Amino acid sequence: MDKLFYFQKAAEIPCSCGKTHRILTQKTMVDHSLTEQIPSALDQLHLGKKCLIVFDENTYHAAGQKVETILNQEKYKTIPLLLHHNSPTQYLEPDEDTRYQVETSLKYQPDFMIAVGSGVINDLVKFTAHRSHIPYVVVGTAASMDGYPSPGAPMLVNGYKITFEASPPTAIFLDLDVLTKAPLNLLQSGFSDLIGKTTANSDWILRNQLQDEYICHYSWDIVQEALQILWESADQIPQRKSEAVQALSIALLNSGFSMALVGDSRPASGAEHLIAHYLEMISLSRGEKTSLHGLRVGAATLIIHKMYQRFLEEIDSIDWEKITSPHPIRVNKETLQEKFGPLYPLVEKEATQKITSPMVFTDSFKKPGFTNRLRQMISEKLFAIPDVEQALKRSKTPSTFEELGFPQSLVKDSFLFSRFVRSRITILDILDEAGLLEKYIEEFL
Ligand SMILES: [Zn+2]
Ligand SMILES: [Zn+2]
Repeated sequence: MDKLFYFQKAAEIPCSCGKTHRILTQKTMVDHSLTEQIPSALDQLHLGKKCLIVFDENTYHAAGQKVETILNQEKYKTIPLLLHHNSPTQYLEPDEDTRYQVETSLKYQPDFMIAVGSGVINDLVKFTAHRSHIPYVVVGTAASMDGYPSPGAPMLVNGYKITFEASPPTAIFLDLDVLTKAPLNLLQSGFSDLIGKTTANSDWILRNQLQDEYICHYSWDIVQEALQILWESADQIPQRKSEAVQALSIALLNSGFSMALVGDSRPASGAEHLIAHYLEMISLSRGEKTSLHGLRVGAATLIIHKMYQRFLEEIDSIDWEKITSPHPIRVNKETLQEKFGPLYPLVEKEATQKITSPMVFTDSFKKPGFTNRLRQMISEKLFAIPDVEQALKRSKTPSTFEELGFPQSLVKDSFLFSRFVRSRITILDILDEAGLLEKYIEEFL
């Protein structure tokens, strides 16, 4: 596979995993001077002539203003929507207020919508477009996350983040002249989010091998190539060199496409994302600062990666039989109620299942050679980036929770309790049930 491969148009892929994958995004472009090409690209997509363009103050200056001007020159009728920041955090959040701002603008009856931005603006428009059956395209302003082509939109509902199913954009435009000017911390956030694919995919292997969960190796193939270029270009991130930003953009696109292939976040999100999610959730509920998504993921990945390495060293002594049979567990309902506070009702279902019934495995672990096979398969994912710590260092990415401003006690809680947020198991579940989690936290945190 070409290292700079990505899906430039919609595709149907019969796969060895048994599924026929579908890429629904009809046009994806990554190029210099791309903004000028947007009107002709839109003409080819026949989406209509009246569009709602959504941006905030930052993305208006980064690209929105230019997109609007160019479209007006080409006889498109544009309805601009400047999103206002009303959230208590320093970032625009996909909350009730911003959703309302987008939804009320639909009264102008646009034929399609344009999200100008990365992260939250893309999510908001994706969410609204899906619910109102209006197509949307996205003009990215930073290589900061992998959610452009993914089939989900994370939204804040009463302060709690829920990922809603939502159709991917009809087109994605990533103008390298815009992306290379994005703030460095956004690029580093995208970079460190990708580092997390190593542990996310290790978790997927765990579930596949222990629980016979469906897995698609093709979705890994397209990400693995991208991780390779990322490792090679890490040093160029701090200078925002064009080649590095291009590699990063394509790597992020492919991570997003891997989710689009599979239909959910399994190829892109494991224990490292649970920890990032927990820290965000608790910080938001306390009205505290959260930091950028990818940076939290990167810091969590560093530690999960070390835990995985130690786990692989100790794997022969794991008592799988004991893990799957009823046994007293470290956590009870009262502890979780205390830790999650007002958010507890939102996680109660998943949490209750985890504290009341042991994990269910197939009997694959009884087969000869099981641990060797598992060790080998996980190592392949873990070391797709030869040295994650070096990669983060070379890109000068802040990668400790301390640098990101999280108190040690909250970080410790995130390793102990984030696993109760989701039913899908990760290395955190295995370590906890094997009685190793607290020991590993002592050692690596
Ligand atoms: Zn992520
Ligand atoms: Zn597949």
